[in-house]
Amino acid sequence: MVWHEVKGNPLDISFSDEHEAFRGEVRAFLDSALTGELKEASSFCPGIFLDYEYNMAWHKILYEKGWVAPSWPKEHGGTGWDLMQRYIWTTECGLANAPGTAPMGLGMCGPMLIGHGTQEQKDFYLPRILSGEDYWCQGYSEPTSGSDLASLKLKATTDGDHLVLNGSKIWTTHAHYANRMFILVRTDDTGKPQDGITFLLLEMDSPGISVEPIVFASGTHEVNQVFFDDVRVPKTNIVGEENKGWTVAKYLLEFERGGGGAARYHTALNRLREFAGQTDNSGTQLAEDPSFARKLQETAIQVEAIQYTEFRIMAAISKGGSPGPESSIMKNMGADIGQHLSELMVEALAFYATPHQPEAREVGQNVPPVGPAGGLTAFPRYFNLRASSIAGGTNEVQANIVAKLVLGL
Ligand SMILES: Cc1cc2nc3c(=O)[nH]c(=O)nc-3n(C[C@H](O)[C@H](O)[C@H](O)COP(=O)(O)OP(=O)(O)OC[C@H]3O[C@@H](n4cnc5c(N)ncnc54)[C@H](O)[C@@H]3O)c2cc1C
Repeated sequence: MVWHEVKGNPLDISFSDEHEAFRGEVRAFLDSALTGELKEASSFCPGIFLDYEYNMAWHKILYEKGWVAPSWPKEHGGTGWDLMQRYIWTTECGLANAPGTAPMGLGMCGPMLIGHGTQEQKDFYLPRILSGEDYWCQGYSEPTSGSDLASLKLKATTDGDHLVLNGSKIWTTHAHYANRMFILVRTDDTGKPQDGITFLLLEMDSPGISVEPIVFASGTHEVNQVFFDDVRVPKTNIVGEENKGWTVAKYLLEFERGGGGAARYHTALNRLREFAGQTDNSGTQLAEDPSFARKLQETAIQVEAIQYTEFRIMAAISKGGSPGPESSIMKNMGADIGQHLSELMVEALAFYATPHQPEAREVGQNVPPVGPAGGLTAFPRYFNLRASSIAGGTNEVQANIVAKLVLGL
């Protein structure tokens, strides 16, 4: 059941003829632009990040079409789409299993600069994010500062019109691909921890930066530790004011946590239903098993709940606001349901989830899968998604934010 097909539901939201026509345009575009290779790369992707090569190929296609930044204002190179158009775009991409784009530039740095950058910074960086010329990474976490981000220590001392950086950042996604980083540094340690933080933009090929890989137990390389040894950054690269970066940092996090959309969970749920509906050797279907059927229905209800939370956040944005602390609700619900769906998929596939066949998940390979083809990613996805309740702020920390800022507890 897809939410907008629910009849007689007071929460039912119908689309105008113009929006339905737009949906048709989006479907036609996705149909022609999604090459077989991109579809394959997307369906083999075990987590959030597609291989860099395919990620950038899709980014360029969207850029040429003018659709790479659906949520940016038109004057900054966005599409100028209204709320419903953006919703339709996200939904159709999710249902078509289209690849995502890397969020650090388009989803985090861009909106942050639009809100807090100088005109010069906007003019220089925004077009480069849109074209894909710049690929960003996020330098927030440190070895001893994750959830308690304000305790960060990476030291930045003034030397003329430069800051000189010493210390380290960790868990830096795609630092090995990025040519730029947005980073939080400590410029003052005399007052409240939040008061001495500065938000900076830097080039990854600056002398003194080294990137060391951290390889996951699953064998994939997504994150890194980045070391800074007397790295000089001009003060013109500060966003906002020196020592006042905490406000900018929090503003960016709202975009990081509010992203995504319910459509991909609908897609995962549909995939799961498809597997559960298959008849096994004994002539039975898992979907008919009362215990599994109940799990499926409970999951479908949770996906619907995410759908409406997504609407609340989008409605807040359409009224001129930022996503707000409600984005923490979406972050937690999304992480939980993504993990739960991956667990049910493993359960549905049973022993066919276990064969380790990374070679069969390479685009263009003709290696026959052991078990159903769509099951190849079940276990890698299950493992990869364990990180989703940690990355971008842990579930426990989001729950604290919701308790304090949404519920006023
Ligand atoms: C796959 C992945 C990609 C990432 N990418 C990036 C990136 O690109 N850039 C970046 O800067 N960071 C990145 N991170 C880091 C991520 O933001 C941190 O891991 C996260 O904020 C948690 O910090 P920590 O790992 O230091 O855990 P800790 O903060 O040490 O937390 C340990 C445990 O204690 C709990 N806890 C801590 N404080 C509280 C509290 N106040 N109340 C209740 N429970 C609490 C946590 O919920 C957690 O269970 C990434 C992490 C992962 C896993």
